Amino acid sequence: MSRVYNFSAGPAVLPEEVLKEAAEEMMDYRGCGMSVMEMSHRSKMFDTIIKEAEADLRDLLNIPDNYKVLFLQGGASQQFAMIPMNLMKNGVADYIVTGQWAKKAYQEACKYGKANKIASSEDKTFSYIPDCSDLPISEDADYVYICENNTIYGTKYHTLPNTKGKDLVSDVSSCFLSEPIDVSKYAIVYGGVQKNIGPAGMVISIIREDLITDDVMEGTPTMLKFKTHADAESLYNTPNCYCIYICGKVFKWLKKMGGLEAMKALNEKKAKILYDFLDQSELFKGTVVKEDRSLMNVPFVTGDKELDAKFVKEATEAGLENLKGHRTVGGMRASIYNAMPIEGVEKLVAFMKKFEEENK
Ligand SMILES: *Cc1c(COP(=O)(O)O)cnc(C)c1O
Repeated sequence: MSRVYNFSAGPAVLPEEVLKEAAEEMMDYRGCGMSVMEMSHRSKMFDTIIKEAEADLRDLLNIPDNYKVLFLQGGASQQFAMIPMNLMKNGVADYIVTGQWAKKAYQEACKYGKANKIASSEDKTFSYIPDCSDLPISEDADYVYICENNTIYGTKYHTLPNTKGKDLVSDVSSCFLSEPIDVSKYAIVYGGVQKNIGPAGMVISIIREDLITDDVMEGTPTMLKFKTHADAESLYNTPNCYCIYICGKVFKWLKKMGGLEAMKALNEKKAKILYDFLDQSELFKGTVVKEDRSLMNVPFVTGDKELDAKFVKEATEAGLENLKGHRTVGGMRASIYNAMPIEGVEKLVAFMKKFEEENK
């Protein structure tokens, strides 16, 4: 067996311990004679799996009792529609557009009501987070929407926007569980799990209870109502059972690692190794303003497309995979999620140093 260091933005690296455990349990999950993929989602075995997963997630994030945790399908992208359909009571919402995911969410919301783009960083290819301390929040806005960590551009909100009392909805797909957050500051905090938690195919949405009602946009499909899933404890229909199982294992792994404070310290340490190198390199440059840098996604360039391509190719040959930047921005991007060991980042920086020497 040979494993590479996988810097993919998602689906992304998972903790080896979790993969090993899942492999051991594949043929016979804890004496029940079948794998988790084969069991009824209504079975006692699975009930324990989903309940424990939720309990561990609640522990990790310190989720208040008045918030529901939903395990839903359709990925983060489906939330782009579900959120306006369920929350736009006045038909108005404010969006801060800091990258492609926020832009997609904004465009989707435009289909269902009056979505206002109240700030954007598109003028400088989303390389910074706009000042959100005093934005023109709409009087009748049902919520203010952000994408907290911009996976493609590598920026992150280090302070949440001043929403002037309006509910805040945040997409945390690519920084989910990378550090502690105060859930009570959000109306909804949600993320696709394939970035920093588990396999693809699921989104976890943490929603304040008073927002889960039957008062949704006319014509909203049953499957797109938060209340449908909340009432059925994420078992209205067959959920992504295997994904829930793996996420549950990752939650236990995170608790064993010391929880989210410990993960934050480790993530800061890992990111610092890479940013410190970028800041002194004569060949490689980070593409984001320093104050808004993400701990999870680190884009960088040489300034020369051919050299970028050479770097990606040689890195792959050295066992450092998926460093190519997003197709819309080019260059490189290293995603260094929770499960990326510090050795992976050290090896990447050593490789970058060597490449710089050889390509002066
Ligand atoms: C990847 C990503 C999405 C889209 O996730 P899907 O699960 O593919 O729909 C949305 N938002 C952010 C921040 C992402 O990184």
